Amino acid sequence: LKRIIFNGKVVLPDRTIEKGCVSIANGHISSVFDGEPNEELRSGWIDAKGGWITPGLTDIHTHGNGGYWGFFGADEILNMARAFVKIGVTSFLPATVSLPHNMVLCAIDAIKIAMSKQSGGTDYDRIHEKPAADGARVLGINLEGPFINPKRAGAHNPLAIREPQGKEVDEIIERAGSALRLLTVAPEIKGGMELIDRLVSSGILPSIGHSDATAEQTHEAIARGATHFTHLFNAVRVFHQREPGCAFAALIDPNINVELILDGKHVHIDVAKIAYKIKTAQKMILVSDSIHAAGMPDGDYNVWGFQVKVKDGICSLPDGTFAGSVLTLNTAVKNAIDYLGASPSDAFRMASINGLKELKYDDKLGSIEPGKIADIAVFDNEFNCISTLISGEIAYKS
Ligand SMILES: [Zn+2]
Repeated sequence: LKRIIFNGKVVLPDRTIEKGCVSIANGHISSVFDGEPNEELRSGWIDAKGGWITPGLTDIHTHGNGGYWGFFGADEILNMARAFVKIGVTSFLPATVSLPHNMVLCAIDAIKIAMSKQSGGTDYDRIHEKPAADGARVLGINLEGPFINPKRAGAHNPLAIREPQGKEVDEIIERAGSALRLLTVAPEIKGGMELIDRLVSSGILPSIGHSDATAEQTHEAIARGATHFTHLFNAVRVFHQREPGCAFAALIDPNINVELILDGKHVHIDVAKIAYKIKTAQKMILVSDSIHAAGMPDGDYNVWGFQVKVKDGICSLPDGTFAGSVLTLNTAVKNAIDYLGASPSDAFRMASINGLKELKYDDKLGSIEPGKIADIAVFDNEFNCISTLISGEIAYKS
């Protein structure tokens, strides 16, 4: 089966074709070319109408979207996956929060069941034999907490925050198996550094976050393999010139990638610009950290037991603490271009292949290049999603 997406600005890893086409065969990108394709190839066409033809987005840190949660049960997660394709997201890691141990295990089970139910799946060698993917790919599990610092809890329930001890870590790793990809840890808590070692030896990426670590502790954690930072600047020790703390240590350490919630609310645009200048598009990953209210109207919502208010793009507890975001990743891309001055190639790199690279899927997904799996989003000029393809099949059309 052949398909052609035409009449759009094609975002490639290093440049943008002003008016080009992408052809797809057997679920993979077969070629990319300038201009209009010739008339006789016209079958199964998608007209981008002068908008953007881009790699599908990957959100490695999201708690919910479109009214659905990422850890409340397999059907809920699959509904979240279906909501995600409406904004051009083609793969994601559902993230938990700090929960009691039995609920962490339940969340792991739910995400694993959702993964096994997805027809699109991640058996990439047999993609051409499979039916169209039903929603964005669930790539694995992101555990945000509970092994974080209660001093930097953010909107996590302090009662559920604890030190990594006893059999909990063993049970989590055993239960999740290869599905567990990312785990946020505060390196300075008791057992934090040892947890980093344990995760690295199990092939799980430790992420520094919700942490009060000093610069020295942060550099040590990075050297031990914690090469990812959960929502840089949010819920961490604040900067002081004699003790910059973990966020600024991560900013200057070349061996760590950083997440950024680029909604213009979580991080001041000046600070986002500083981070972008230092880390560049190579080391920065745009995430939503969204709750289920993302893509929903303003109003009152219940977020893991807390009452929160969503108003004007901010989602907060009664005391003003931010409780996740209502950012969508297509808006984050637009913000990277509008506020940070990123090129389209760099903006999409930060919202697609950078996260996939950490998960070791970058050889198959995350960019528009011949041979890659055709996970593609088409946006209008305002970055509203027009259509989304997964393995070359239409998963969403506006
Ligand atoms: Zn989060």
